[in-house]
Amino acid sequence: MLEVKDLHVSVEGNEILKGLSLTINAGEVHAIMGPNGSGKSTLSAVIAGKEEYVVTSGSITFEGRDIFEMDIEERARAGLLLGFQYPVEIPGVKNVYLLKAALNAKREAQGLGEIPAPEFMKLIREKIAFMKMDSSFLQRAVNEGFSGGEKKRNEILQMLVLEPKLAMLDEIDSGLDIDAMRVVSKGINSLRGEDRGILLVTHYQRLLDFVVPDHVHVLVDGRIAKSGDADLARELESRGYDWILEESAA
Ligand code: ADP
Ligand code: MG
Ligand code: MG
Repeated sequence: MLEVKDLHVSVEGNEILKGLSLTINAGEVHAIMGPNGSGKSTLSAVIAGKEEYVVTSGSITFEGRDIFEMDIEERARAGLLLGFQYPVEIPGVKNVYLLKAALNAKREAQGLGEIPAPEFMKLIREKIAFMKMDSSFLQRAVNEGFSGGEKKRNEILQMLVLEPKLAMLDEIDSGLDIDAMRVVSKGINSLRGEDRGILLVTHYQRLLDFVVPDHVHVLVDGRIAKSGDADLARELESRGYDWILEESAA
């Protein structure tokens, strides 16, 4: 589904990703872990198409298509969705309109018409309840005055409504209390399926107790220094990252 090959990326003249390769197949959940500043967010931002990142070499294909030939909207319509695609507050734009516009853009790309209003409201009510969110939330401006936990729930709500083929979530677990962590994890687990890939970027192992990944990769200094299964995340929790730094330096 997603194939990243020997990717090199620079920001403002500094090389951040230094030959990163990663393959995600449909049905798999991958977690990317690693110390602060290792390039985790850079990877998801490049996949999503953020502009300040310069790809100096390497390739990324999504279902066989070169994603660098697709603009951000095309990537989203093709089914690539980054959780923090709308991280900022959008004054005056109600959450419910953004969700509906995004869903209709996706349907249009699939050759479907606009979703009928009653069908949309039914879908939204179901997902809101699942995420234990208050329906007043829909009428609020996007992210305006949302607490950290509400923003995270909202990210998952977007995923549940849009059902991307590849869902990427960067630090979805940061700042969540345990109840919010459970709800967010339940949302992510409900997205799991044989047609869908999920990429979780996380600094901590805690999320991975709730959403058990098929593959775990440790990103160190712009490269994947080690890959394994969920046990690797547990090992990192108890041993930290230093031993991987030493191993990869050896
Ligand atoms: P992580 O998510 O693993 O903590 P990031 O991908 O955010 O790491 O950042 C990796 C490195 O790239 C850091 O040294 C960071 O300062 C730098 N970096 C990332 N984005 C930018 C940017 N827009 N401008 C300048 N430096 C950046
Ligand atoms: Mg290289
Ligand atoms: Mg980051």
